[in-house]
Amino acid sequence: MQNKQLSAATRAYIQMTHRYLANHYERFPVAVESGQGCWVKDVDGRRYLDMFADYSVHNFGRSNSQLLMVFIDQVTKLSLCAGNFYNPFLAQLGKALAEFSGILNAKFLPGNSGAEAVEKTLKIARRWGCINKKLDKSKGEVAEIIAAFSNFHGRTMGALSLSANQHYKEGFGPFLPGIRWVKFGDAADLKRAINKNTAAFIVEPIQGEGGFIFPPDGYFKEVAKICHEENVLLILDEIPTAFARTGYNFPHEHDGITPDMIILGKALGGGLTPFSGVVVRQPVMDVLGPGSDGSTFAGNPPACRVGLEVIKMMQSGSWTKKAHQLGDYFLQSLKELDSPHIKEVRGRGLFVGVQLHPEIMAREVCGRLLEEGIMTVSAGQNVIRFTPPLVVNKIELELAVKALHRVLSKISPDAHRG
Ligand SMILES: *Cc1c(COP(=O)(O)O)cnc(C)c1O
Repeated sequence: MQNKQLSAATRAYIQMTHRYLANHYERFPVAVESGQGCWVKDVDGRRYLDMFADYSVHNFGRSNSQLLMVFIDQVTKLSLCAGNFYNPFLAQLGKALAEFSGILNAKFLPGNSGAEAVEKTLKIARRWGCINKKLDKSKGEVAEIIAAFSNFHGRTMGALSLSANQHYKEGFGPFLPGIRWVKFGDAADLKRAINKNTAAFIVEPIQGEGGFIFPPDGYFKEVAKICHEENVLLILDEIPTAFARTGYNFPHEHDGITPDMIILGKALGGGLTPFSGVVVRQPVMDVLGPGSDGSTFAGNPPACRVGLEVIKMMQSGSWTKKAHQLGDYFLQSLKELDSPHIKEVRGRGLFVGVQLHPEIMAREVCGRLLEEGIMTVSAGQNVIRFTPPLVVNKIELELAVKALHRVLSKISPDAHRG
């Protein structure tokens, strides 16, 4: 986009950002001012259809009034309760999540960000491994963790140690030892990688940042069986895929398995507050004792009230149904798009990725979609992500499909042949 088309206000925020902020994002030239439902307004009053939801955070719509009500109510009464005291809201949320997640005898450990919750699973897995695996400490053996290639688990040092993406890791090492990588979607590769010191396999049910990659049918059944037989903990990172996003309460319900730990974040805070946590089988969670973990703000009462309300809303079943039905409709509409630039359309519920041919940069297409009033970002080099708030309707989804068609039809049909 040409800078000269930008308003004075937008230009000023862009300059201010470049001058005063860390340069860790490649930003689109839109300064966002407000959002409601699945619509966003910039500082110039231009409206955008939100097909992104800030990475699948606003599942229930931006500024959802039911969630706002409990959040504001709680902020005015009690905003924080340190972990040294009993927190009634956290107790209730723990109970609700344990019952709702379907994990046997589950317990909850709260966090703030997704990456922080990932760190907690690494700590739990390492300590569980120290207790349950016969590590030869004299040889420097550690409880090993297996991760999948092309994963994304966040940007903190532990989560980054799991990454196989050199661009993310450049210059930040040394990283955690004892990490191995296996092919995502290949259960035999997992089986080969397990040894006597393996404590856990951490994996996303569907890889998001990696490019909306779906494993073959039956993969997770195999994975769960292998982990069970080998006494290896199965940790599912469900941060962007839980809470109706894929048409299920939790994405592992699609696979018919029960993992040892699930990692939640993003939509858990209803788009109003940062909130994350891990739901863990009781004997595994019990490796943590007093003093082994903690966080000043994790499990704060307003976040817990929102989390409780999120679960209450989910229990109606209407959100999963909506994601399922709209997702099928959207996927079908995208598949009917006749463009030489589209390689594949993949999705489950409203977790949808459009893979373009390698020569077409998804980021550039997203920039042009923005000019058409459609907000989203790419995943990897060639995938356009579509994860709208689940309050979106068919007419709005059609707007996005038509805009994508217009944008792609302006790219030379020969472009993808290099
Ligand atoms: C977003 C995300 C994270 C990290 O969450 P933050 O809140 O950004 O730290 C981890 N794992 C997956 C799969 C994610 O999509």
